[in-house]
Amino acid sequence: MSRRRVITRFAPSPTGPLHLGHAFSAMTAFDMARAHGGCFVLRIEDIDRSRSRVKWEREIERDLAWLGLSWPRPVVRQSDRAPAYREALLRLAERGLTYACICNRSDIREAAAAPQEGAPMLGPDGIVYPGTCKHADHPYEGSAIRLHMDRALALVPEIAFEETGAAGTGRIALDAEHMLRMIGDVVLARRDMGTSYHLSVVLDDSAQSISHVVRGLDLFDATPIHVLLQSLLGLRSPIYHHHRLIRDDTGKRLAKRDDARSIAAYRDTGATPADIRRLVGLPSAS
Ligand code: GLU
Repeated sequence: MSRRRVITRFAPSPTGPLHLGHAFSAMTAFDMARAHGGCFVLRIEDIDRSRSRVKWEREIERDLAWLGLSWPRPVVRQSDRAPAYREALLRLAERGLTYACICNRSDIREAAAAPQEGAPMLGPDGIVYPGTCKHADHPYEGSAIRLHMDRALALVPEIAFEETGAAGTGRIALDAEHMLRMIGDVVLARRDMGTSYHLSVVLDDSAQSISHVVRGLDLFDATPIHVLLQSLLGLRSPIYHHHRLIRDDTGKRLAKRDDARSIAAYRDTGATPADIRRLVGLPSAS
C-alpha cells in the first residue's frame, strides 16, 4: 500500500435500510482504515432528493454504530455541496467539454434503436447515449449536461487506475475505444439535480482526501468515468478496491427491497454484530 495516509469511506444513498451488502462494504472500508492506522469517513449521498429520506439517514447511522463503526462528524452530505458541483461543471463547460441535452429516456431508446446505430450498447448508466443533442447547441438552463467524451479523450487518451480488490490486483487501463463504445457521453448533471452521481462522487472523494475507494464490484464499470473526470479536473485518483457482492442463498444480489436482510431485521431477531461479520465472511473484529 502507498505511503499516503489511508482514508476510506462508506457513501450510502439514504433511500432504504442498511442491508447485509452495505454492512459488508462499510465494514470492509472501516477495517482497511483501521489496519493502516487511517481514518474511515461516512458520506451521505443524497443528491436524489425525490428518493432520499432523513429517516433512512438516521437509521443507517444507527446501524453502522451498532456494528461498531465510528467516523468523524459532522458527516458530509451531498445536498450541501451544490456550489462545488456547479463550479466544477462550469470549469468543464468553459473548456468545451460538455453540452446540453434535452432527450428523455424514450428519446434515447428510440434514437439508439435506429438501424444505422447497430445493437444499442449498455453502459454503466444504461443505453450508451447516441449523441442526438451533441451538435444542437441547446441552452444549458433546464437541460441535462453531458460530457463531450471524444473531446475529453483528446485530452486524456488513456484511463488508468490502481485496483486492489476483487477485480484483480494491479494497474487497470482502458483506451479511448472502450470509453466511446461502452460509456459514451455520460450525464454530468441531471436536469432535476444540477449534478450526477459521477460528478459528485469524484469531487467529494477528492474533497475528503479519500485514498482508497472501497465499494462493490457493481460499480466497477463506473470507475473509468470517475478516473477520467479526476484527470480532467486535475484531481488525484484514489486507489480502488472493488469488493465481491453479497448474494442471497439463491445467488441473487441483495437489493434494498430485501428488507428481511436489513441489519435492523437481523438485530431485532437477536443477531449480534459478530454474527453479521460471520454472515458476510469477514473475520471477527479484534
Ligand atoms: N451512493 C452509492 C450507493 O449507495 C455508492 C457510491 C460509491 O461508493 O461510489 O450505491
